[in-house]
Amino acid sequence: MHDALLSWYSAAGRHDLPWRRTRDPWAVLVSELMLQQTQVPRVLAIHQKLLAAFPTPAACAAAPVGEVVRAWAGLGYNRRAVNLHRSAVAVVERHGGHLPDTLDDLLTLPGIGPYTARAVLAFAFEKPVCPLDVNTARPLARAFGVGGQAAADALVPVDDAWRWNQALMDLGALVCTRRAPSCDVCPLADVCRWRLGGGPDPAAPAGRQSRFDGSDRQGRGRLVDALRDAPVVAGELAAVMGWADDPGRAARVAATLVADGLADRRADGTFTLPD
Ligand code: SF4
Repeated sequence: MHDALLSWYSAAGRHDLPWRRTRDPWAVLVSELMLQQTQVPRVLAIHQKLLAAFPTPAACAAAPVGEVVRAWAGLGYNRRAVNLHRSAVAVVERHGGHLPDTLDDLLTLPGIGPYTARAVLAFAFEKPVCPLDVNTARPLARAFGVGGQAAADALVPVDDAWRWNQALMDLGALVCTRRAPSCDVCPLADVCRWRLGGGPDPAAPAGRQSRFDGSDRQGRGRLVDALRDAPVVAGELAAVMGWADDPGRAARVAATLVADGLADRRADGTFTLPD
């Protein structure tokens, strides 16, 4: 099973992704935060540019958070940029500017959850842990009936952990997709429980995706995009956020951006990116 997946990865994996050519923990952390809920092509357009601007945690921590939010343009979910900056500050203050290499220490960093912490351990430090996200969890669940973190970690080959996790990631993204898995080219086809009819498809329940159009998130994104160019005065807030007829909603949602550290509100009511 290990050999089959690793051989498939050698032949068909996405070896040209820039974050796979490095073991720099900072570069890996940046890529993992960017890749959350964001397609690879959009991340590719910005990843190297952001790393050039902030090549180390110290460089990022020394910059105003607004500069990191500005560099995040095009990726959405801007709170991740604030978390990246906060993590950089914490890494400088608590770890001498170097990403820690233990799960407990990584989990104390702002905005770093179990997946991202394990991704840094697996992809930067080559530790035998499995970063469980939708792409890695789906083939594990379908092929082996593995559903928990401990069982996923136990499957990682200690001497080839980095390649195993990358292979699993690519299998879930390219072959074992949610709606139409390509079982005919899958290296796990001979042992896959789901394909052989042994179990229900854990990916089958098609959970309803929250709609983006008209959502608070859309308004938040519009305001941050506008702030990257210039401050927004209070009187323009509702129009900028796309809710010209609902200034109360605009004010309420804008306040959540301030609370999240993504915007500042001056005394005169003008919104800016944070300093
Ligand atoms: S055989 Fe099909 S369902 Fe099973 S892991 Fe491969 S692609 Fe997924």
